[in-house]
Amino acid sequence: MAPPDFTSNKTFRTFRTLPSSTSLPPSTSPPSTSSSASPLSTSSASSSSPHASPEETYYLLAQIKENMSITKPTLILEDLSSSTFALVWEDSPPSSSPNFNEFFKARNIKKGNCILIPNAVRSDPPPLTEQEIQEGKPPKQGCVKLKGNGDELKVFPGTLEKVVGVGQHWAEDMADTSRCWECGATERKGGDDKKLMNCTGCGGVRYCSKECQVKGWTEGGHKTVCKVIKAFRDIWP
Ligand SMILES: [Zn+2]
Ligand SMILES: [Zn+2]
Repeated sequence: MAPPDFTSNKTFRTFRTLPSSTSLPPSTSPPSTSSSASPLSTSSASSSSPHASPEETYYLLAQIKENMSITKPTLILEDLSSSTFALVWEDSPPSSSPNFNEFFKARNIKKGNCILIPNAVRSDPPPLTEQEIQEGKPPKQGCVKLKGNGDELKVFPGTLEKVVGVGQHWAEDMADTSRCWECGATERKGGDDKKLMNCTGCGGVRYCSKECQVKGWTEGGHKTVCKVIKAFRDIWP
């Protein structure tokens, strides 16, 4: 399965363009993984209609800026429109380790890496009270909440720029599996085995020779994206 279209802002949403948990229209069935995400939606017949077209998967892609955990694992993320928002693991019990470092480490969650959440929903905050309005409080921003361990979340070991770059060039770069990634040769140099060799890091790019592999790694810049390509292949095999 090839990765989705990284140039589509319908497939890759920002925090602002996510469906809101409080205003999902009845015609748009909520993501199957979070049936409890729309507490205010009425139980209209259309939402459970067997004729409803299957919801297309969309993604929230954002880069990790800060760990803001206090009582629950909480990250500040920056999305594709450079807006920041909070991601909260809603159900996680308080951890004894400060700032949930173990929890994040086990998931390769660290500053600079990117997070991908399929079918994320924006949780809107409660409206400001009369008193808060009188006090001149700014409107609250809302956040994205994850249930349980949040296992639907995927991590890319690279910046937003890098991940989007790989995503946008994936189709053209990966389309031709018959050529050396570096020199374009269609056969392996100097051997009877004509098959090109796969990069053992990502398995996604091919070389005709050790020479081309080394050149591709350094001059070709593959070392900066090899892990990101690996993550792509894990998520969209
Ligand atoms: Zn080559
Ligand atoms: Zn590689």
